[in-house]
Amino acid sequence: MRLVVKIGTSTITYGTGKINYRRIDNLCKVVSDLRNSGVEVILVSSGAIGMGVGKLHLHKKPTDIATKQAAASVGQCELMYVYDRAFSEFNQTVSQILITAEDVEIPLRLKNFRNTINKLLSLGVIPIINENDTVSVEEFGIGDNDTLSAIVAKSVNADLLVLLSDIDGLYTADPHKTHTAKLIEKVKEIDDKIVSLAKGKGSELATGGMETKIKAAKIVTSAGTDMIITNGADIENLYKIADGESVGTIFLGKREE
Ligand code: GLU
Repeated sequence: MRLVVKIGTSTITYGTGKINYRRIDNLCKVVSDLRNSGVEVILVSSGAIGMGVGKLHLHKKPTDIATKQAAASVGQCELMYVYDRAFSEFNQTVSQILITAEDVEIPLRLKNFRNTINKLLSLGVIPIINENDTVSVEEFGIGDNDTLSAIVAKSVNADLLVLLSDIDGLYTADPHKTHTAKLIEKVKEIDDKIVSLAKGKGSELATGGMETKIKAAKIVTSAGTDMIITNGADIENLYKIADGESVGTIFLGKREE
């Protein structure tokens, strides 16, 4: 089984931009365990800008491009340092891959990217991917890691994309505002009704929200791959997912008739 797991900023940092060590340790433990059981795991992790904000003692997420890119540059080091250290506890080797939109748009670069991922996986490595925020030009970049993880899942023929978020899945209404909101467990078709449920942004330090998650679902499901949105606060859910159970909201990939 080949799994792409996207980790949102809010899963691994507190609202202050400081690292949530408990979450990172649990995540690395579960991913290492899955890897040992034979599951190939590729991580797409956000958090560079968030951790940069914490490390540079900025009071909030910057809005100007230069400070954002500077924060990403500082935070990416911290992010990989934290992962490398946490995964070493479980005898795992990680690698960093930073990509820009051109890397997935130009066929030759995409082919090289795919070959490198395959090689890393065959060497037993856990690749950790992020957008190269420091050099990406915002307007032309991939822009958010929900979309990036979908592009990655599609390019490496993953069996499943899992988006770890700060919410249990897609709801019939905003559960923070509407008590009667219900979790939608299965989405077979991403129609206008589903799209209309997904407005707005996530937490303060995050880039995406439900809208970018639906965009990601469209990319992977049209390539025949399933996608699950589940809460990153309960990392052990990844075990259930690897066992074929659905937790949160599953978007079913289009199958050949
Ligand atoms: N690449 C950004 C970061 O590492 C995050 C983008 C996103 O969360 O969608 O901070």
